[in-house]
Amino acid sequence: MYFYYNIKNMKDKNFYIENYGCQMNISDSDIITSILLKNGFTQSKNLDEANIILLNACSIREKAELTLKKRLEQLKFYKKNKKIWIGITGCFSKQIKKIFLEKKIVDFFVSPDSYREIHNFINYSIIGKKYFFYDSIKKKNETYADINIIKQKNKKITTFLSITRGCDNMCTFCIVPFTRGRERSTDPNSIIKECERLYQNGYKEIILLGQNVDSYLWIYNKKNINQNQKNVVDFSNLLDLLAKKNPMMRIRFSTSNPHDMSNKVLEVISKHKNICKHIHLPVQSGSNKILKLMNRKYTREKYLFLVKQIKNIIPECSISHDIISGFCNENEEDHQDTINLMKEIKYNYGYMFSYSPRPGTYAYRKLKDNVPKHIKKKRLQEIIDLQRKHSFYRMQEHLGKVEEVLIEGESKKNNQYWYGRNTQNLIVVFPKKHLNIGDLVHVKIKNTTSATLIGDICI
Ligand code: SF4
Repeated sequence: MYFYYNIKNMKDKNFYIENYGCQMNISDSDIITSILLKNGFTQSKNLDEANIILLNACSIREKAELTLKKRLEQLKFYKKNKKIWIGITGCFSKQIKKIFLEKKIVDFFVSPDSYREIHNFINYSIIGKKYFFYDSIKKKNETYADINIIKQKNKKITTFLSITRGCDNMCTFCIVPFTRGRERSTDPNSIIKECERLYQNGYKEIILLGQNVDSYLWIYNKKNINQNQKNVVDFSNLLDLLAKKNPMMRIRFSTSNPHDMSNKVLEVISKHKNICKHIHLPVQSGSNKILKLMNRKYTREKYLFLVKQIKNIIPECSISHDIISGFCNENEEDHQDTINLMKEIKYNYGYMFSYSPRPGTYAYRKLKDNVPKHIKKKRLQEIIDLQRKHSFYRMQEHLGKVEEVLIEGESKKNNQYWYGRNTQNLIVVFPKKHLNIGDLVHVKIKNTTSATLIGDICI
């Protein structure tokens, strides 16, 4: 039974947005918020005051899906006592959306390429229209380039800027190419303008986002450019342009696909002081057999060669990883290949998961999830333990060095300390003294844990 509601009776269309998921989702929450605010909605920071609740989530990993299910169970209570509309945005396959709809808590879904119309979709829901899935099939080129993002007034000095959307890689375990569509890049002029605007608004660091930033590509129509302008802008050109135009803005980026990363990009990173020396380079597995089953388009040997190139061109560069343990057909030998690759590289840090098949993916349809749960768990633990050792080893390399740190906020453990990040994206904590959030300071590293560098300001 659906509740028909006269939209004119609503004093306020007051939304509350919760974010679950990756950096791309956090960046998308800003897009959704900006579109709703520009269309007469108001934003509430308090769930109790809102009549529209948006959960910007994802189903890329089973754990994320379970967290969302739990949250929806909690929201059932709100729905019983008050007329509210609940919408889910983000990366979900049709199968998963159906499971959520059956629970009768969710009113609508909006997919990542359809946010431009989200205000209309919410209005349809409010007047009782039974459209549940707002998927944009027509908007394959959507980049939201012209949306003037309204950033929330918090004290943050670092923010995300999306430069590509979607992905063409079709890794067999991944739902992104189906939920976010084909890869497309944002006009470099709009990225440069947005970067300048963010700097003027007090941001000191931007993180360029894309599923695969290294394949960024913009081709100008020859008629629209002058003689001195290049008609093709790739990722190395974009980084170079941004670093030159905004020398005071720190630049980071994520995520790199080893298949697409070029020496040209590494050289640009090495050339500019304001491009941070950290590369997130997901490997997923150290076994060629598993990489092939995952449809990753590089081999273990190519990956190791790339890491060597990174260290040659940018010796101080930190490298982090994503690893999936227990993918289909993974045996002990494959697992040991991953362990040995980790030992060879000694990553600074990483994100480690055990494999869970995701509905809608090739692996879900065609491959057998045949590694028993307890084996997956054991292998994952070995990977985590090894990474902990390597992180500690890498942190020791900073002892005694003076490093440039951007202050991001007060340390959670001690309000007499600031925390910030060095160029390698490592957390540094140090006594406050007379400094402010957003200051770029020099800190001498005196101690470390496996996750934090501890130091003192150099005056
Ligand atoms: S590169 Fe692979 S894992 Fe990354 S978003 Fe694309 S398909 Fe998914």
